[in-house]
Amino acid sequence: MSNILVYIHAPAPVPTKSQRELLALAASLGEVHAVLGGPADPIALEALTSAGANGFYTAAGGIDPAALLSPAVCLLTAAVRESAATAVLLPNSIEGREIAARAAVRLDSGVITDAIEVDAELLVTKSVLAGSYTVKAQVTRGPALITLKPNSVQLPAHETASAAAAPVRELELGDNAPAARITGTRPRTSSGRPALAEARFVVAGGRGVDGDFSAVEDLADALGAAVGASRAATDAGWIDHSAQVGQTGTTVSPQLYISAGISGAIQQKAGMQSAKTIIAINKDPDAPVFEIADLGIVGDLTQVLPQAAAEIRRRK
Ligand code: FAD
Repeated sequence: MSNILVYIHAPAPVPTKSQRELLALAASLGEVHAVLGGPADPIALEALTSAGANGFYTAAGGIDPAALLSPAVCLLTAAVRESAATAVLLPNSIEGREIAARAAVRLDSGVITDAIEVDAELLVTKSVLAGSYTVKAQVTRGPALITLKPNSVQLPAHETASAAAAPVRELELGDNAPAARITGTRPRTSSGRPALAEARFVVAGGRGVDGDFSAVEDLADALGAAVGASRAATDAGWIDHSAQVGQTGTTVSPQLYISAGISGAIQQKAGMQSAKTIIAINKDPDAPVFEIADLGIVGDLTQVLPQAAAEIRRRK
Protein backbone atom coordinates (compact mmCIF):
# COMPACT_ATOMS: atom_id res chain seq x y z
CA MET A 1 0.00 0.00 0.00
CA SER A 2 1.32 3.48 -0.86
CA ASN A 3 2.29 5.86 1.91
CA ILE A 4 0.61 9.23 1.54
CA LEU A 5 1.44 12.27 3.64
CA VAL A 6 -0.97 15.10 4.35
CA TYR A 7 0.42 18.44 5.48
CA ILE A 8 -1.73 20.04 8.23
CA HIS A 9 -0.58 23.62 8.68
CA ALA A 10 -2.49 24.52 11.84
CA PRO A 11 -3.90 21.55 13.75
CA ALA A 12 -7.01 22.46 15.75
CA PRO A 13 -9.49 20.56 17.94
CA VAL A 14 -11.96 20.71 15.05
CA PRO A 15 -10.19 20.12 11.71
CA THR A 16 -11.18 22.53 8.96
CA LYS A 17 -13.18 21.30 5.98
CA SER A 18 -10.07 21.63 3.77
CA GLN A 19 -8.02 19.51 6.18
CA ARG A 20 -10.73 16.83 6.24
CA GLU A 21 -10.84 16.88 2.43
CA LEU A 22 -7.07 16.34 2.26
CA LEU A 23 -7.29 13.43 4.71
CA ALA A 24 -10.30 11.85 2.94
CA LEU A 25 -8.58 12.03 -0.45
CA ALA A 26 -5.34 10.63 1.00
CA ALA A 27 -7.25 7.74 2.62
CA SER A 28 -8.56 6.76 -0.83
CA LEU A 29 -4.96 6.57 -2.10
CA GLY A 30 -3.13 4.69 0.65
CA GLU A 31 -1.90 4.68 4.25
CA VAL A 32 -2.14 8.22 5.61
CA HIS A 33 0.24 10.05 7.91
CA ALA A 34 -0.28 13.70 8.79
CA VAL A 35 2.68 16.06 9.07
CA LEU A 36 1.86 18.69 11.68
CA GLY A 37 3.10 22.19 10.91
CA GLY A 38 2.12 23.45 14.39
CA PRO A 39 1.45 22.23 17.90
CA ALA A 40 -1.45 19.79 18.34
CA ASP A 41 -3.22 18.96 21.59
CA PRO A 42 -4.65 15.47 22.26
CA ILE A 43 -8.13 16.53 21.08
CA ALA A 44 -6.72 17.73 17.76
CA LEU A 45 -4.83 14.45 17.31
CA GLU A 46 -7.97 12.43 18.02
CA ALA A 47 -10.02 14.53 15.60
CA LEU A 48 -7.40 14.14 12.83
CA THR A 49 -7.28 10.39 13.52
CA SER A 50 -11.07 10.20 13.12
CA ALA A 51 -10.73 12.14 9.89
CA GLY A 52 -8.34 9.52 8.46
CA ALA A 53 -4.78 9.93 9.82
CA ASN A 54 -3.08 6.64 10.71
CA GLY A 55 -0.11 8.39 12.32
CA PHE A 56 1.59 11.76 12.75
CA TYR A 57 4.97 13.34 12.20
CA THR A 58 6.00 16.32 14.30
CA ALA A 59 9.26 18.17 14.83
CA ALA A 60 11.22 17.20 17.95
CA GLY A 61 11.35 20.35 20.05
CA GLY A 62 8.42 21.87 18.14
CA ILE A 63 8.28 24.30 15.24
CA ASP A 64 9.60 27.82 15.72
CA PRO A 65 6.73 30.02 14.49
CA ALA A 66 9.09 33.00 14.08
CA ALA A 67 11.11 31.14 11.46
CA LEU A 68 8.51 31.62 8.68
CA LEU A 69 7.95 28.40 6.73
CA SER A 70 11.50 26.98 6.84
CA PRO A 71 10.92 24.52 9.72
CA ALA A 72 7.77 23.20 8.04
CA VAL A 73 9.75 22.57 4.84
CA CYS A 74 12.46 20.75 6.85
CA LEU A 75 9.86 18.67 8.70
CA LEU A 76 7.96 17.73 5.55
CA THR A 77 11.17 16.78 3.73
CA ALA A 78 12.29 14.65 6.69
CA ALA A 79 8.86 12.99 6.90
CA VAL A 80 8.89 12.13 3.18
CA ARG A 81 12.33 10.51 3.55
CA GLU A 82 11.30 8.68 6.72
CA SER A 83 8.04 7.33 5.30
CA ALA A 84 9.14 6.80 1.68
CA ALA A 85 5.85 8.51 0.77
CA THR A 86 4.82 8.41 -2.87
CA ALA A 87 2.72 11.56 -2.56
CA VAL A 88 2.16 14.54 -0.28
CA LEU A 89 -1.16 16.38 -0.29
CA LEU A 90 -1.10 20.00 0.87
CA PRO A 91 -3.67 22.81 0.98
CA ASN A 92 -3.72 25.06 -2.08
CA SER A 93 -3.11 28.03 0.22
CA ILE A 94 -0.21 30.47 -0.09
CA GLU A 95 1.62 28.54 2.65
CA GLY A 96 0.79 25.14 1.15
CA ARG A 97 2.07 26.12 -2.28
CA GLU A 98 5.26 27.66 -0.91
CA ILE A 99 6.03 24.63 1.26
CA ALA A 100 5.30 22.25 -1.65
CA ALA A 101 7.62 24.16 -3.98
CA ARG A 102 10.48 24.38 -1.49
CA ALA A 103 10.16 20.72 -0.43
CA ALA A 104 10.12 19.65 -4.10
CA VAL A 105 13.44 21.39 -4.68
CA ARG A 106 14.98 19.56 -1.72
CA LEU A 107 13.48 16.22 -2.80
CA ASP A 108 14.28 16.73 -6.50
CA SER A 109 10.64 16.00 -7.34
CA GLY A 110 7.66 17.74 -8.93
CA VAL A 111 4.77 19.92 -7.76
CA ILE A 112 1.24 20.09 -9.14
CA THR A 113 -0.94 22.93 -7.82
CA ASP A 114 -4.68 23.62 -8.17
CA ALA A 115 -5.59 19.93 -8.09
CA ILE A 116 -9.28 19.04 -8.04
CA GLU A 117 -8.92 15.25 -8.34
CA VAL A 118 -6.19 12.65 -7.80
CA ASP A 119 -6.61 9.03 -8.89
CA ALA A 120 -4.95 5.85 -7.61
CA GLU A 121 -2.11 6.23 -10.16
CA LEU A 122 -1.48 9.76 -8.82
CA LEU A 123 -2.79 11.19 -12.07
CA VAL A 124 -3.94 14.67 -11.10
CA THR A 125 -6.80 16.64 -12.62
CA LYS A 126 -6.16 20.35 -12.22
CA SER A 127 -8.07 23.38 -13.33
CA VAL A 128 -6.37 25.93 -15.57
CA LEU A 129 -7.28 29.20 -17.29
CA ALA A 130 -9.70 30.27 -14.56
CA GLY A 131 -11.51 26.96 -14.56
CA SER A 132 -12.27 27.04 -18.30
CA TYR A 133 -10.28 23.84 -18.85
CA THR A 134 -9.04 20.94 -16.81
CA VAL A 135 -5.80 19.14 -17.60
CA LYS A 136 -4.37 15.83 -16.39
CA ALA A 137 -0.85 15.93 -15.05
CA GLN A 138 1.50 13.51 -13.33
CA VAL A 139 4.74 14.00 -11.45
CA THR A 140 7.40 12.05 -13.31
CA ARG A 141 10.19 12.00 -10.73
CA GLY A 142 10.22 11.58 -6.96
CA PRO A 143 7.29 11.91 -4.54
CA ALA A 144 4.40 13.94 -6.00
CA LEU A 145 3.72 17.19 -4.12
CA ILE A 146 0.11 18.08 -4.85
CA THR A 147 -1.83 21.09 -3.56
CA LEU A 148 -5.58 20.52 -3.49
CA LYS A 149 -8.18 23.21 -4.13
CA PRO A 150 -10.80 23.48 -1.39
CA ASN A 151 -14.25 22.00 -2.00
CA SER A 152 -12.87 19.38 -4.42
CA VAL A 153 -13.59 16.27 -2.36
CA GLN A 154 -16.95 14.89 -1.30
CA LEU A 155 -16.59 14.24 2.43
CA PRO A 156 -18.00 11.02 3.94
CA ALA A 157 -21.29 11.64 5.75
CA HIS A 158 -19.86 10.11 8.94
CA GLU A 159 -16.25 9.87 9.99
CA THR A 160 -15.19 6.74 11.88
CA ALA A 161 -15.19 7.57 15.57
CA SER A 162 -11.74 6.81 16.95
CA ALA A 163 -11.09 5.72 20.51
CA ALA A 164 -7.52 6.98 20.63
CA ALA A 165 -5.22 9.21 18.67
CA ALA A 166 -2.88 7.53 16.17
CA PRO A 167 0.82 7.37 17.17
CA VAL A 168 3.04 10.44 16.92
CA ARG A 169 6.60 10.20 15.63
CA GLU A 170 8.97 13.05 16.45
CA LEU A 171 11.61 13.77 13.82
CA GLU A 172 14.95 15.43 14.58
CA LEU A 173 15.42 18.28 12.12
CA GLY A 174 19.09 18.85 12.96
CA ASP A 175 20.69 22.24 12.51
CA ASN A 176 18.30 24.15 10.28
CA ALA A 177 18.84 27.75 11.28
CA PRO A 178 16.38 29.75 9.16
CA ALA A 179 17.67 32.36 6.72
CA ALA A 180 14.86 34.76 7.68
CA ARG A 181 12.91 35.39 10.89
CA ILE A 182 9.74 37.31 11.82
CA THR A 183 10.77 40.39 13.78
CA GLY A 184 7.31 41.76 14.59
CA THR A 185 3.64 41.09 13.87
CA ARG A 186 0.58 43.28 13.69
CA PRO A 187 -2.61 41.27 14.25
CA ARG A 188 -5.49 41.86 11.85
CA THR A 189 -8.75 42.59 13.58
CA SER A 190 -10.96 39.54 13.59
CA SER A 191 -14.45 40.04 12.16
CA GLY A 192 -15.99 37.05 13.94
CA ARG A 193 -17.44 35.97 10.56
CA PRO A 194 -17.00 32.45 9.16
CA ALA A 195 -13.85 31.63 7.17
CA LEU A 196 -14.43 32.51 3.50
CA ALA A 197 -13.30 29.18 1.98
CA GLU A 198 -15.61 27.17 4.19
CA ALA A 199 -18.61 29.45 4.69
CA ARG A 200 -22.12 28.18 3.89
CA PHE A 201 -23.14 31.69 2.81
CA VAL A 202 -21.00 34.35 1.15
CA VAL A 203 -21.95 37.94 0.35
CA ALA A 204 -19.46 39.49 -2.07
CA GLY A 205 -19.03 43.05 -3.29
CA GLY A 206 -17.24 44.45 -6.31
CA ARG A 207 -16.37 47.78 -7.88
CA GLY A 208 -20.08 48.62 -7.73
CA VAL A 209 -19.86 49.21 -3.95
CA ASP A 210 -17.81 52.29 -4.83
CA GLY A 211 -15.54 52.14 -1.79
CA ASP A 212 -18.16 51.37 0.83
CA PHE A 213 -18.49 47.75 1.94
CA SER A 214 -20.86 48.50 4.85
CA ALA A 215 -24.03 47.30 3.06
CA VAL A 216 -22.27 44.08 1.99
CA GLU A 217 -20.96 43.51 5.54
CA ASP A 218 -24.33 44.26 7.09
CA LEU A 219 -26.14 41.71 4.89
CA ALA A 220 -23.37 39.20 5.63
CA ASP A 221 -23.90 39.71 9.37
CA ALA A 222 -27.67 39.37 9.03
CA LEU A 223 -27.13 36.02 7.26
CA GLY A 224 -24.15 34.79 9.29
CA ALA A 225 -22.17 34.86 6.04
CA ALA A 226 -18.54 35.46 5.10
CA VAL A 227 -17.65 38.59 3.14
CA GLY A 228 -16.08 38.15 -0.29
CA ALA A 229 -14.92 40.61 -2.92
CA SER A 230 -13.83 40.92 -6.52
CA ARG A 231 -10.25 41.74 -7.33
CA ALA A 232 -11.27 45.23 -8.41
CA ALA A 233 -12.46 45.87 -4.84
CA THR A 234 -9.42 44.37 -3.12
CA ASP A 235 -6.98 46.09 -5.49
CA ALA A 236 -8.69 49.40 -4.72
CA GLY A 237 -7.93 48.79 -1.03
CA TRP A 238 -11.61 48.84 -0.03
CA ILE A 239 -11.29 45.47 1.70
CA ASP A 240 -8.47 43.13 2.64
CA HIS A 241 -6.95 40.94 -0.09
CA SER A 242 -7.90 37.82 1.90
CA ALA A 243 -11.54 38.50 0.87
CA GLN A 244 -10.80 38.12 -2.85
CA VAL A 245 -12.77 35.38 -4.57
CA GLY A 246 -11.63 34.04 -7.91
CA GLN A 247 -8.80 32.68 -9.97
CA THR A 248 -6.12 34.44 -7.95
CA GLY A 249 -8.13 34.52 -4.73
CA THR A 250 -10.11 32.00 -2.74
CA THR A 251 -12.30 29.34 -4.34
CA VAL A 252 -15.64 29.12 -2.59
CA SER A 253 -18.44 26.60 -2.95
CA PRO A 254 -21.13 27.80 -0.54
CA GLN A 255 -24.83 26.98 -0.42
CA LEU A 256 -25.52 30.61 -1.32
CA TYR A 257 -23.31 33.24 -3.00
CA ILE A 258 -24.71 36.77 -3.21
CA SER A 259 -22.79 38.85 -5.73
CA ALA A 260 -23.30 42.61 -5.49
CA GLY A 261 -21.84 45.11 -7.94
CA ILE A 262 -19.63 42.49 -9.58
CA SER A 263 -19.68 42.21 -13.38
CA GLY A 264 -18.86 38.48 -13.47
CA ALA A 265 -15.50 38.35 -15.26
CA ILE A 266 -14.20 34.87 -16.01
CA GLN A 267 -11.54 35.17 -13.27
CA GLN A 268 -14.25 35.96 -10.67
CA LYS A 269 -16.50 33.13 -11.91
CA ALA A 270 -13.60 30.67 -11.56
CA GLY A 271 -13.80 31.04 -7.80
CA MET A 272 -17.55 30.97 -7.21
CA GLN A 273 -19.43 29.30 -10.05
CA SER A 274 -19.76 26.02 -8.13
CA ALA A 275 -21.89 27.74 -5.46
CA LYS A 276 -25.20 25.91 -5.07
CA THR A 277 -27.31 29.04 -5.49
CA ILE A 278 -26.07 32.34 -6.93
CA ILE A 279 -27.97 35.58 -6.48
CA ALA A 280 -26.59 38.50 -8.49
CA ILE A 281 -27.39 42.16 -7.93
CA ASN A 282 -26.23 44.49 -10.67
CA LYS A 283 -27.65 47.66 -12.16
CA ASP A 284 -26.57 46.59 -15.67
CA PRO A 285 -29.08 44.03 -17.07
CA ASP A 286 -26.39 42.81 -19.50
CA ALA A 287 -23.76 42.08 -16.83
CA PRO A 288 -22.20 38.65 -17.53
CA VAL A 289 -22.81 37.57 -13.94
CA PHE A 290 -26.49 37.10 -14.80
CA GLU A 291 -25.51 34.24 -17.16
CA ILE A 292 -24.67 32.04 -14.17
CA ALA A 293 -27.07 33.48 -11.59
CA ASP A 294 -30.03 31.46 -10.31
CA LEU A 295 -31.70 34.70 -9.35
CA GLY A 296 -30.82 38.06 -10.88
CA ILE A 297 -31.84 41.42 -9.45
CA VAL A 298 -31.36 44.39 -11.75
CA GLY A 299 -31.00 47.21 -9.30
CA ASP A 300 -28.82 49.45 -7.22
CA LEU A 301 -27.04 47.53 -4.49
CA THR A 302 -27.25 50.47 -2.10
CA GLN A 303 -31.01 49.95 -2.09
CA VAL A 304 -31.30 46.17 -2.55
CA LEU A 305 -28.78 45.07 0.13
CA PRO A 306 -30.23 47.06 3.06
CA GLN A 307 -33.75 45.91 2.18
CA ALA A 308 -32.60 42.28 2.10
CA ALA A 309 -30.78 42.64 5.44
CA ALA A 310 -33.82 44.29 7.08
CA GLU A 311 -36.15 41.57 5.80
CA ILE A 312 -33.87 38.77 7.04
CA ARG A 313 -33.67 40.38 10.49
CA ARG A 314 -37.45 40.88 10.55
CA ARG A 315 -38.03 37.16 9.86
CA LYS A 316 -35.54 35.92 12.48
P1 FAD B 1 -16.26 45.69 -12.79
O1 FAD B 1 -15.98 44.71 -13.87
O2 FAD B 1 -15.89 47.09 -13.00
O3 FAD B 1 -17.83 45.57 -12.50
C1 FAD B 1 -18.52 46.38 -11.61
C2 FAD B 1 -19.97 46.05 -11.76
O4 FAD B 1 -20.70 46.76 -10.77
C3 FAD B 1 -20.57 46.44 -13.12
O5 FAD B 1 -21.16 45.30 -13.70
C4 FAD B 1 -21.59 47.53 -12.79
O6 FAD B 1 -22.74 47.43 -13.62
C5 FAD B 1 -21.93 47.17 -11.36
N1 FAD B 1 -22.41 48.28 -10.55
C6 FAD B 1 -21.88 49.52 -10.45
N2 FAD B 1 -22.54 50.27 -9.53
C7 FAD B 1 -23.53 49.47 -9.05
C8 FAD B 1 -24.56 49.65 -8.10
N3 FAD B 1 -24.69 50.79 -7.40
N4 FAD B 1 -25.42 48.64 -7.86
C9 FAD B 1 -25.31 47.46 -8.53
N5 FAD B 1 -24.35 47.23 -9.47
C10 FAD B 1 -23.45 48.22 -9.70
N6 FAD B 1 -11.11 39.19 -10.49
C11 FAD B 1 -11.68 38.61 -9.40
O7 FAD B 1 -12.77 39.01 -8.98
N7 FAD B 1 -11.05 37.58 -8.77
C12 FAD B 1 -9.86 37.09 -9.18
O8 FAD B 1 -9.32 36.17 -8.54
C13 FAD B 1 -9.24 37.68 -10.32
N8 FAD B 1 -8.07 37.22 -10.80
C14 FAD B 1 -7.55 37.76 -11.95
C15 FAD B 1 -6.40 37.19 -12.51
C16 FAD B 1 -5.89 37.70 -13.68
C17 FAD B 1 -4.65 37.10 -14.26
C18 FAD B 1 -6.53 38.80 -14.31
C19 FAD B 1 -5.99 39.35 -15.59
C20 FAD B 1 -7.67 39.34 -13.77
C21 FAD B 1 -8.19 38.84 -12.58
N9 FAD B 1 -9.35 39.37 -12.01
C22 FAD B 1 -9.90 38.76 -10.94
C23 FAD B 1 -9.95 40.65 -12.51
C24 FAD B 1 -11.16 40.42 -13.39
O9 FAD B 1 -10.74 40.27 -14.74
C25 FAD B 1 -12.08 41.66 -13.32
O10 FAD B 1 -11.36 42.80 -13.69
C26 FAD B 1 -12.69 41.88 -11.94
O11 FAD B 1 -13.30 40.70 -11.48
C27 FAD B 1 -13.72 43.01 -12.04
O12 FAD B 1 -14.23 43.27 -10.77
P2 FAD B 1 -15.71 43.86 -10.64
O13 FAD B 1 -16.68 42.93 -11.25
O14 FAD B 1 -15.89 44.22 -9.20
O15 FAD B 1 -15.60 45.24 -11.42
